[in-house]
Amino acid sequence: MRSLHIGIAGAGLAGRMLAWRLLRAGCRVTLLDMRQRDALDTASMAAAAMLSPLAELAVSDAVVFALGQRSMALWPQWIDELHAADPAADTPPVYFRQQGSLVVAHAPDQSSLAHFTRLLQHKLPPAYQSQVQRLDTAALATLEPALAGRFAQGLYLQGEGQVANDQWMAALARELARLGAVWHSGVAVQALEPRCLRARRMAGEHAGEEFSIPVDIVVDARGAGSKPLLSGLRGVRGEVLRVECKGVVLQRPVRLMHPRYQLYVVPRPDHLFVVGATELESEDTGPVTLRSMLELGSALYSLHPAFGEARVLSLLSALRPALDNDQPACMQQDGIWHINGLYRHGYLCAPALVDSLTRQILDSTP
Ligand SMILES: Cc1cc2nc3c(=O)[nH]c(=O)nc-3n(C[C@H](O)[C@H](O)[C@H](O)COP(=O)(O)OP(=O)(O)OC[C@H]3O[C@@H](n4cnc5c(N)ncnc54)[C@H](O)[C@@H]3O)c2cc1C
Repeated sequence: MRSLHIGIAGAGLAGRMLAWRLLRAGCRVTLLDMRQRDALDTASMAAAAMLSPLAELAVSDAVVFALGQRSMALWPQWIDELHAADPAADTPPVYFRQQGSLVVAHAPDQSSLAHFTRLLQHKLPPAYQSQVQRLDTAALATLEPALAGRFAQGLYLQGEGQVANDQWMAALARELARLGAVWHSGVAVQALEPRCLRARRMAGEHAGEEFSIPVDIVVDARGAGSKPLLSGLRGVRGEVLRVECKGVVLQRPVRLMHPRYQLYVVPRPDHLFVVGATELESEDTGPVTLRSMLELGSALYSLHPAFGEARVLSLLSALRPALDNDQPACMQQDGIWHINGLYRHGYLCAPALVDSLTRQILDSTP
């Protein structure tokens, strides 16, 4: 029997994960992306990739919460599956931790922490209330010795975690190649039809050349790049700072409450930390602004003065793709499948969304 040929526009987190699951299900997959595989200016590469179903509920809703809970169960399984198949078998599995997260506030910002705690208690279903635990200064020091004596109180959000997005995206690219995906980089998708992708080469000898790829099913996973096709889609600018610091050891992500914004510090292997993220209702794709750099850097320094010696490795900005209701969407519209609107919880929700879309696509074909 001929295998189903799926054409996916966009090879970010959504496009790569969907391609992987469809290849595993026996489909043929062609991916097209305007950027190179390791480009850093996409939401998927810039993300801090915290997996925060509890903390995110403060700014989202029951739909995102349920997707997050389902994804938290899938993440370790999928990381194991990918590692078992990875041809670079000498590399360790993608870094994934699920040791909870902390929320703290400096003395003048205690009312923000109190409000955040009440909001979570109000929105969390009763079965999850016990996962939010108040910590005094001694309990904080036990969980995170580097913060001993720095904060009078905090919150522990049990079960939250983080994944190293750069490792995950690279491992997916290797696995897609091993499974035989055809991947066109540097190719701008210009139009989508139910059984055809029309694209233009952006660079190289054949720059400007237009071509089309006939397929059985078309999926649009272009993030904010789907704006011309998907009404209600917008890009929300986010900026992050990546540093290396040997003077501070954190076991888990730490959120710092502030009346104007929340910032977080996410530990990664090899003394690396991701500090994020700004959230601006703007589709500006320019470099990180001085103001954002100062705010992110000050938050980091105020968490622990030893971060003053941190080496700045990169400043990244990207657009989070968001829909009007700020919820993710997997749907078919005019014969084209869409996965989009992953907004600020793409890593949190991706496994559940991709799992559901894979089933919908396979069930839709005879
Ligand atoms: C600063 C920041 C921090 C974040 N932190 C977190 C976090 O801690 N936890 C969490 O869960 N989520 C977080 N997110 C959100 C998460 O990163 C996104 O929801 C997710 O990565 C979106 O993935 P995507 O594949 O839909 O979009 P994208 O990553 O934008 O990928 C879209 C792809 O489509 C390609 N493309 C676009 N237009 C075209 C075109 N015309 N032709 C061909 N290709 C095209 C792009 O090149 C890109 O590769 C963060 C996002 C940002 C920006």
